[in-house]
Amino acid sequence: MFKFLSAEPLHDPIASPAPGAVNEVKCTTCYMCACRCGIRVHLRDGEVRYIDGNPEHPLNQGVICAKGNAGIMKQVSPARLTQPLLRKAGAERGAGEFEPISWERTFEILTERLGHLRATDPKKFALFTGRDQMQALTGLFARQFGTPNYAAHGGFCSVNMAAGMIYTIGGSFWEFGGPDLDHARLFVMIGTAEDHHSNPMKIAISKFKRAGGRFISINPIRTGYSAIADEWIPIKPGTDGALFMALMQVLIEEERIDHAFLKRFTNAPQLVVLDEGMREGLFAFDPDPAKGPPGDGRNPHNKLVWDTSEGRVKAAYPEGIADGCDPALEGTYTLDDGTRVAPSFQLLRERVAPCTPEWAAAITGIPAERIRALAREMGHAAFEQAFELPIPWTDAWGKLHPTTQARPVAFHAMRGLAAHSNGFQTVRSLAVLMSLLGTIDAPGGFRHKAPYPRHIVPNYRAFNDPAMIQPNTPLNAAPLGFPASPDELAIHPDGSPIRIDHAFSWEHPLSAHGLMHNVITNAVKGDPYRIDTLMIFMANMAWNSTMNTMGVREMLNRKGPEGDYAIPFLVVCDAFQSEMVAFADLVLPDTTYLERHDVMGMLDRPISEFDGPVDSVRVPVVKPLGQCRPFQEVLVELAGRLKFPAFTTPEGGRKFKDYPDFVVNFQPQPGIGFLMGWRGKDGTEHLRGEPNPKQWEMYEKNNCVFQYHMPKDQQYMRNWNQPYLDFAKEKGWRQRNDPVQLALYSDTLQTFRLAAQGKTAGRRPPEHLRERVEKYFDPLPFWYPPLEEVCTDLAEYPLNAVTQRPMAMYHSWDSQNAWLRQIHSHNYLQVNSATALAAGIADGGWAWVESRWGKLRCMVRHSEAVEPGTVWTWNAIGKASGAWQLAPGADESRKGFLLNHLISEELPSADTASGSISNSDPITGQAGWYDVRVRIRPAEPEEPAETFPQIAATPAPPGVRGVTEHVLAYFAGGKRK
Ligand code: SF4
Repeated sequence: MFKFLSAEPLHDPIASPAPGAVNEVKCTTCYMCACRCGIRVHLRDGEVRYIDGNPEHPLNQGVICAKGNAGIMKQVSPARLTQPLLRKAGAERGAGEFEPISWERTFEILTERLGHLRATDPKKFALFTGRDQMQALTGLFARQFGTPNYAAHGGFCSVNMAAGMIYTIGGSFWEFGGPDLDHARLFVMIGTAEDHHSNPMKIAISKFKRAGGRFISINPIRTGYSAIADEWIPIKPGTDGALFMALMQVLIEEERIDHAFLKRFTNAPQLVVLDEGMREGLFAFDPDPAKGPPGDGRNPHNKLVWDTSEGRVKAAYPEGIADGCDPALEGTYTLDDGTRVAPSFQLLRERVAPCTPEWAAAITGIPAERIRALAREMGHAAFEQAFELPIPWTDAWGKLHPTTQARPVAFHAMRGLAAHSNGFQTVRSLAVLMSLLGTIDAPGGFRHKAPYPRHIVPNYRAFNDPAMIQPNTPLNAAPLGFPASPDELAIHPDGSPIRIDHAFSWEHPLSAHGLMHNVITNAVKGDPYRIDTLMIFMANMAWNSTMNTMGVREMLNRKGPEGDYAIPFLVVCDAFQSEMVAFADLVLPDTTYLERHDVMGMLDRPISEFDGPVDSVRVPVVKPLGQCRPFQEVLVELAGRLKFPAFTTPEGGRKFKDYPDFVVNFQPQPGIGFLMGWRGKDGTEHLRGEPNPKQWEMYEKNNCVFQYHMPKDQQYMRNWNQPYLDFAKEKGWRQRNDPVQLALYSDTLQTFRLAAQGKTAGRRPPEHLRERVEKYFDPLPFWYPPLEEVCTDLAEYPLNAVTQRPMAMYHSWDSQNAWLRQIHSHNYLQVNSATALAAGIADGGWAWVESRWGKLRCMVRHSEAVEPGTVWTWNAIGKASGAWQLAPGADESRKGFLLNHLISEELPSADTASGSISNSDPITGQAGWYDVRVRIRPAEPEEPAETFPQIAATPAPPGVRGVTEHVLAYFAGGKRK
């Protein structure tokens, strides 16, 4: 009799472990999602027994979720790769036919190939990574190699959220900041279901609700956090920007805005030139050169205001904020030289005036009265429920504020806003709305996390000089950054892109995270040129990490007339037999997160809290499986073999023994390294100090985390808090200590628009992109329909289709997780019951879903938790047959499906030579995942009861673990056989 069929429990889940069951507990950091909770891994004889949350960790305080707990099943996954693999001579890509090779042979192949490219044409090497947390290293590797063709996954994830907020308030949600639910009274979550900040958000919402806070969720779908919202307001996808515009219209019309905050801490009173010409739409400035050069977006403190008390123009700082000065927010004025000007707020007021709730109701599907009431509710929380914390602080102009003003209306937003081709302006409109309410770094509102806020524009210029791509020479700037003007674009003199993904070109000027979703398509087209080697880490580009999945799979295999692959050499680094592995020429087997060192530090993506910086590490708690080697080690090894200057001693020797050694000793500036805890030779310094050879040990002894609590008077209002700004500069988080005024009006965007209008002397977009740049680079937020809607017959494709991330899974990593598969082994298309019935599709019935770009067959679930014009499904549950060591006929491949088949990575464009342009935000290049329009119809009864398309299974490569019974037996309570 199988034990699981008997009434006898397998084990008592709350009994103390049996003697000998666990003989060691090691702390590290979870990586079952990107939240990075502290965990304790319980081991017996070096084998993982179970994982729980670390109660001493500041982020999750002992809480663990289903994913984190199931990390044990990732560790023993049958899909683990165990050895380097080389595609067999003569085998086709995608067939999955490999021969095992040694690591030494692997390094020889890579060193020879990459060394040749570096010595001849470095841009022919492209490095693109998925959801990794080591961009400080991967970016450095690309820069030292000398290739601009580098990015991580942000371009297809949430760069609109990052850039839209950073260009407006100097920080953003998630790692960069978030809602202060300890002090909020009203919490509005929009475009978020289950996100990266998982356990901390759940803890915070739980406390907030117990304290009587009101939680409103605005989302097309009621899943995830929305399930416990006090109110769910359904909204049509891609229309959030229209809602924000209408909310601003009501708040401004009813004067429910924070006037004092706007006048002192934002550019709302600063005067914008109204006259036509090269200064049109830019801020008027003080011509005194001592105040800094004007209008490049990086030196914002020489602007002007109109003082209504004296009826004359004054410098915005410090005169404009001095006692007795009352800067105008409205009206138009004339400067002494005859220039007509207006406060930027006047232009914002004019912009939102027609955006009434009635206007937005027709777009969003939310009744006008609900929009009006929502605006009033926000205003009520911000002003009538306001309070002050007894925390004095000093602003950048020396004014001591005896208390800290709370504005207890908090927002949280993520990918639901970002993953649209109108996402940048939508996110900007949210940031401006929050600014009107004065909720920026205020108690109860949005709060930054160190090292944020950044300057607006952040002082990171992306590499942009094609002449600097030289053999055996590092780039003179990092491949990614934040352009502040057309001069900083990565383009050739004729305006064409430098980069393979067209990032930082006129097509997507502010693409701070690159455009990973276009790399394969562009490389195959040779647009703008052909590359030789594409190295992909942790990104399933042959399946769920790509739009146009079937097309991209075909492109990965495409050959030229000579029979050579269009992308000659593909290197894939992955821990599992994902769909992408079959297409590799060379496979590098990565470790799991339990087998390696990792850093979540200030050079990259720390885990800071509102009250100060926090960084953390992973340390190996078990030995790597087989020949698995962490990708970081591979990069450090290759950098040494290729003799990158930063990795080589003056004598020509290797500078870093391995990745841990690199982490401890690499310093981009003196005293600044990957980790900020226990620095200095004896480990007594923090934040800044010499390298400490025992730094890893100190992290290990301290729960793998370092937390620094800033003094109370530096914890709020950090855009303008002088002691904080000084402190942040001293610790190397920012280059200047000047304040960060909120950019309600973006003169940075206006510089691009002026160039497109031909009004400035410098760089101009190519003719075919002028209209596009002029339209979207609006200095004020605005709403426009997603680009896909404009080129789609909406009557023919009447529904929006989007995906959600399930709480129990993160990306495709968990499809092989034996525990989590029991929660989700396949997915349905969730359709509003009325919509499904109108289409004649039964609950549980099979249906066709069609877009302009493709079609798929799947099962449908009727649901009341989705607005009638939207259909949705879980992301990345569907799998290709044969991948991930799933058994033939596994639910994931027979009943699971990917919405990606319906989404194109390109949209038609009459203006480009190729006839197409990336399906992305025209400002940032963010992939427009959530813009696709579809129609649904029932499948015919005689059709097979399986999803379409189906993929022919590929054989498992040599060395894939593939021992499912062994894993199950081990966890049925017995000892390993
Ligand atoms: S929220 Fe993410 S990081 Fe935290 S325990 Fe769950 S999976 Fe791990």
